[in-house]
Amino acid sequence: MSIPRRQLLQLGTLGLGTFFTGKTFASGKKQAAGRKPLVISTWDTGIAANKGAWNVLGKGGRALDAVEQGVMVTENENNCCVGLAANPDRDGFVTLDASIMDEHGNCGSVAFLERVKHPIQVARMVMERTPHVMLVGAGAQQFAVEQGIKLEDGKLSDDAKKTYEEWLKKSEYKPAVNIENTKGTAFAPLRLPNGDWNHDTIGMVAIDANGNLSGSCTTSGMAFKLRGRVGDSPIIGAGLYVDNEIGAATATGLGEEVIKICGSHLVVQYMAQGLHPEEACKKAVEKIIRNKKGDPNLKDTQVGFIAINKQGQYGGYCIQKGFSFAVCYADDKNFMVDGKHML
Ligand code: ASP
Repeated sequence: MSIPRRQLLQLGTLGLGTFFTGKTFASGKKQAAGRKPLVISTWDTGIAANKGAWNVLGKGGRALDAVEQGVMVTENENNCCVGLAANPDRDGFVTLDASIMDEHGNCGSVAFLERVKHPIQVARMVMERTPHVMLVGAGAQQFAVEQGIKLEDGKLSDDAKKTYEEWLKKSEYKPAVNIENTKGTAFAPLRLPNGDWNHDTIGMVAIDANGNLSGSCTTSGMAFKLRGRVGDSPIIGAGLYVDNEIGAATATGLGEEVIKICGSHLVVQYMAQGLHPEEACKKAVEKIIRNKKGDPNLKDTQVGFIAINKQGQYGGYCIQKGFSFAVCYADDKNFMVDGKHML
């Protein structure tokens, strides 16, 4: 494809790795320039994770390697809400979910996995070394060990232990999510005392210099969930979806609501209709809000989506104020964006 001189000049001023489309999307809006390579990820832990991903993307590496390396940074952070240092389920065990998807539509995931530091690695092994997509619980752990992964001791981190002991004082073992949402049992992503949303996930999507897309998502799930509960993050199409011809999306927040609308797949389908990533995320959020119309728990429910398209454009949208995502497209361009919100 020959690039007109004017666009070549723009490429020169915007720097290598920047790609201008100037395309008008279905919304009628002229969309901003896309960028390649590019990586985006959920919440402020995304800054460090993006850095990890950029170590791969910035050297011309594959998006799949970038999204694995990127979220491993977060899984490693001891003081963070993802990985083994995170809050446990209501029986006091940390159980992890993760998924990964590449540019060929291959995907792998693990759920209800215990004592493994990097569930995203195991998800990739499921994708690349088995004929399956998803392994759960004891079987996922057994597979991890067979692949040479060392099991950790399973003890709670100091922070998680404190939070769990605090939660136990008032614990209510009622299974109904809708009842508990407003009771402060932290099943739903209620606000934490510091005003943050209670969240335990990093979702990441990236496009590499070759224009290939991949995504990853890893989580300890909702704090104090029922034992055995699995959220959206390891469910391909819900917490993560990649279509290399169109775009990639991932989700965070109350996984049950994301699963109900096959959220990330829906976002990608909206992009397939020509919507910009931000508009596509917004449409998926609108769908959740329509589903929950009249539900008093809506005000305590947070879901955020982020997405990129094949042109390297990005966007995010959420239900409530307070969701942000990290965007990185150069060594010195790694910054937070406040997600636009509906309520
Ligand atoms: N979506 C995750 C889940 O429901 C939680 C989160 O995003 O923090 O398991």
